[in-house]
Amino acid sequence: MYLILFGSPGVGKGTQAKILSNILKIPHISTGDILRDSVKNQTELGLQAKKLMDAGELVPDDLMISLIKETLSKPECVNGCILDGFPRTIAQAVELNRLFSELKISNVVLLHLTANNDEIVRRLTNRRACKQCGNIFNLNDIKEPNVCPVCNATDSLILRKDDKEDVIRHRLEIFDKLTSPVFDYYREHAKTIQINGLLPIEEVNNLILASLKN
Ligand SMILES: [Zn+2]
Repeated sequence: MYLILFGSPGVGKGTQAKILSNILKIPHISTGDILRDSVKNQTELGLQAKKLMDAGELVPDDLMISLIKETLSKPECVNGCILDGFPRTIAQAVELNRLFSELKISNVVLLHLTANNDEIVRRLTNRRACKQCGNIFNLNDIKEPNVCPVCNATDSLILRKDDKEDVIRHRLEIFDKLTSPVFDYYREHAKTIQINGLLPIEEVNNLILASLKN
């Protein structure tokens, strides 16, 4: 099964991907990892991508599709994979669909982890990072105020710029505008599943597995 993981920032895609990868025995492939690996291994496509990224440019869709094609053709993906971070636009969805038909892949499911934007903002603004050890915590898990629960550093807990409310709201807006139409596209081109991603982790996972069985 080729599972496309879809959902706004902060909805818990990474967490579910890890659990599903273990249960379904298919690799979790994030486009970020594909890029990093291809650059690290200095593949031809990786070198092209590196040149663009070094120049501060985005990796274009056709290059990203070629990188995904390379990955999907590997033996570990022969039974499927969990794709995370792609497609983010309709154009990318159309290209990916074309790639799936080229590779004769038909067992594609789009899993949309839905979330209420206000709830995501509430969760993410509750995060604190330790500038000493780099760990990230929820405010509720910090017992002594201003003390890092891992390295015990004092006054080292900060609200990261990425976790500030206006930054989060802006990212969510972009997601809604660009990415939501992708879901509508998939409704016509693949099986789609929608699960509330803000339920407890285990419950989300059980609901996903139950839907996949149907
Ligand atoms: Zn710390």
